[in-house]
Amino acid sequence: MPALSRSVPALVLASATGLALTGCAAPADPAASTDGLSIVASTNVYGDIASSIAGDLATVTSIIDSPAQDPHSYEASAQDQLAIANADLVIENGGGYDPFIDILVEGSETGAVVITAATLAGIDDDHGHGDDDHAEEEGEEHSEEEAAEGEAAEDDGHGHVEGVNEHVWYDLHIMEQVAEAIATELAELDADNAAAYEENLAAWMEELEALEGELEAAAEQLGGGTVASTEPVPYYLLAELGFDDETPAEFSEAIEEGADVPPLALQQTLDLVASDELVLLAYNDQTASPETERVREAAEEAGIPVVSFVETLPDGEDYVSWMRANIEAVVGALSPA
Ligand SMILES: [Zn+2]
Repeated sequence: MPALSRSVPALVLASATGLALTGCAAPADPAASTDGLSIVASTNVYGDIASSIAGDLATVTSIIDSPAQDPHSYEASAQDQLAIANADLVIENGGGYDPFIDILVEGSETGAVVITAATLAGIDDDHGHGDDDHAEEEGEEHSEEEAAEGEAAEDDGHGHVEGVNEHVWYDLHIMEQVAEAIATELAELDADNAAAYEENLAAWMEELEALEGELEAAAEQLGGGTVASTEPVPYYLLAELGFDDETPAEFSEAIEEGADVPPLALQQTLDLVASDELVLLAYNDQTASPETERVREAAEEAGIPVVSFVETLPDGEDYVSWMRANIEAVVGALSPA
């Protein structure tokens, strides 16, 4: 299957329709097999939060649910299209992270409500139109942006928006807003069970508030400092923990986009890692490359603690336990043994 881009929604629709008409051997669509509500999430992070709010009143399908997948370069399938077509509620990250969702929503006849986390976070989901840095960098192209919508997403092979950190699920406060939005939409879609959704939300929020307390205590204990990351997935969590991420932007952009790292940016990153300034290197296991391996080795040689982070929910964790494990990993790495 060719890579999806904004220029080929017709192809996506055609292949999905073909599958539906012939009823060929794809596994039965889980979303279609229940009388309850059907929720589709772009990744299992949002799928888990949705499950916490919906309980057993809905079927939740997460399109990306394996740590072996790099969500930044995911290619949607016809099966994904069917799941979206049958969905009552769709949850995406937005901000250029999972543009395949928008393509699937547009390419299907789905009447699903779509919740976009990046929009709740105040990040413009429309390819950086509202972002000042982006506008400056693009200079003369700015006036053409409205007409050329989607071009930015095609330029780098996926929808990453320059100058914006789209990994908003590493921000606990934004996930509170997402959970609230999910509960509100579920109550509207299924008014008979509104009280149950409200109750599930309250229980989840209580857990999250406890975690926020732990986060604040950890930030106080750690006392801040300069960090670097091989890919900026944990940016919001590290910022809440009081750290300044000084990773050269060109390095981060290249890793996120799966592009070659410019030699100067790699050298600047290696220099930062070798300096006395750095207290921690955040390593993204899901976007590893020879360059990130080199940076990791340099950190290890310099005796800088390296803490691993991933894009999607690891097996056996839920959102709250996962974020707690991330915080504890940072505290553990920086506390004297
Ligand atoms: Zn990422």
